[in-house]
Amino acid sequence: MAERDPIKAWARKTRAQRRAGKDAACTCGEQRPFALIAGHTPPICFACDRIAHGRGPYEWNHIFGRQNSAAQVRVPINDHRAVLSVAQYDWTPETLSNPHKCDLLEAAARLRGRADLLQYMLDDSRACAERLERRCATECRHSAGDEPAPPLRQNPASETCSASDRSRKGDR
Ligand SMILES: [Zn+2]
Ligand SMILES: [Zn+2]
Repeated sequence: MAERDPIKAWARKTRAQRRAGKDAACTCGEQRPFALIAGHTPPICFACDRIAHGRGPYEWNHIFGRQNSAAQVRVPINDHRAVLSVAQYDWTPETLSNPHKCDLLEAAARLRGRADLLQYMLDDSRACAERLERRCATECRHSAGDEPAPPLRQNPASETCSASDRSRKGDR
């Protein structure tokens, strides 16, 4: 069973890079080769192409593989093409295609799909946090002499977190 073959992964990426063009990038800044439409000049990403055609930049993803489950999640199209589909190329091929409808492989597919999704969410969370921190550094202009912000006013009616805290305490 072939999986996580770094040479194959490298070859796939190189082919995608060649199809998209060296150092190709969409005007939006997207430059992951698998998120760029092959052979398009000037380079354009799937998301911008969708938007240009009046459609949302999202796509349904069969997280466990089409052969294993009808379950789908809606994800940004560029991430679908450049992250989640690429992760599925690394699956054991038998697990993805499951030609004999084996229950064990279906269960394996569910685990792999969940792991891919979690990894994607972790990476995306870190990247988003870094973007927010960069924006704070360039846009907020906090200065050393700033008064600290006053504590948030407690408003029990609108604060679901503190409400659930209270109910948890009540359970004890
Ligand atoms: Zn774009
Ligand atoms: Zn700030």
